[in-house]
Amino acid sequence: MNTNKENFGIYIHIPFCKSKCFYCNFVSGVYDEEIKEKYFENLQKEILDNKLCKQKTVNSIYFGGGTPSCVNVKYILNILKLLKKSFNINDNAEISIEVNPNSVDMEKLTAYKNSGFTRISFGAQSFNDEILILLGRKHKSSHIFSSVQMAKQAGFNNISLDLIIGVTEIDYEKFIINIEKLKNLGLKHISVYMLMLEENTKLYIDFQNKKFKPLKEDESVTQYNKLVKILKNLGFYRYEISNFALSGYECNHNLNYWHSGEYLGFGVASHSYIDGKRIENTSDIQKYISTPDKSQIKKTESLMDSQIIEEYIMLSLRIKSGINLQVLKDLGFDILKEKENEINFLTKNHLISVTNKNLFVNEEYFGVVNSIILKLIP
Ligand code: SF4
Repeated sequence: MNTNKENFGIYIHIPFCKSKCFYCNFVSGVYDEEIKEKYFENLQKEILDNKLCKQKTVNSIYFGGGTPSCVNVKYILNILKLLKKSFNINDNAEISIEVNPNSVDMEKLTAYKNSGFTRISFGAQSFNDEILILLGRKHKSSHIFSSVQMAKQAGFNNISLDLIIGVTEIDYEKFIINIEKLKNLGLKHISVYMLMLEENTKLYIDFQNKKFKPLKEDESVTQYNKLVKILKNLGFYRYEISNFALSGYECNHNLNYWHSGEYLGFGVASHSYIDGKRIENTSDIQKYISTPDKSQIKKTESLMDSQIIEEYIMLSLRIKSGINLQVLKDLGFDILKEKENEINFLTKNHLISVTNKNLFVNEEYFGVVNSIILKLIP
């Protein structure tokens, strides 16, 4: 069942990067031009062969990765053109692209803007050059400012930054100055993630070998809470656990995921969610480009009603507005009745709030959302 009928999104995965960051375990890597060319040919084929959701109105398109900006701009523009031909795209659709500060220039940014991209998201990660080196990033802090400035000049008004915290101490005063500067350049949205040490990454191996020591968990939590307050004072409200926006600049594409809306994903390792079915593409890029029949690289799972309910609760408690009680009831779960004792306990302890329409986690308890979810799922 689709719990968010008004929205429908398309995700395009671009698995190419200039180099592999030390903390990254996404499906991405460094490949030569021949592979890139084949990949985009196959991506076009997958879109052309698709028969799903042709009648739906697309409200968001998201080019993620990988680093979409590290490939020749013609590949990206051709895919966007094809999507526009193949789907019914809302005139006001949000069309986003992820870029890295050192892989864009004025020409590329202008081409993105002129072809219809409305939102640009920079993988900034840190304003501290030493941390950027530690993370294996190839840009410097100065590139963040120069590339955001270029994006503004190219006409982008909806600019987002990704940041990673929990690596070392932060100079909060400098952080405030930097965000204010970027806000003047059009920054509207910030995603802040805690550093995760994922297996098989260089940083994880360095940690195992005692060559790298991140902040302790409680110090990272303190850092996060401090940043939440700073961002709030700068006008960025926390609309999801890790996401902050000036009012009206929330990321519609991601909101659709958190509202359990439907979406189609194209490309290696992408996912789709349609009519209660989850479709998962292979994560193997060689398999993706060498299998002409794209139905053979897809795995489909029909979700049971109980899984849909569970997912809806898990995803919607991540966002500020929380669970829509009527939507959950329509899915077959009257949470106020079924979880009466748990809800009484959580509200008495101010962890959640309940209105006549919604049930949501109080912002100061976003950090313990997982334990709240465990109490509220069937
Ligand atoms: S640029 Fe992004 S996707 Fe590419 S290696 Fe770095 S973190 Fe991973």
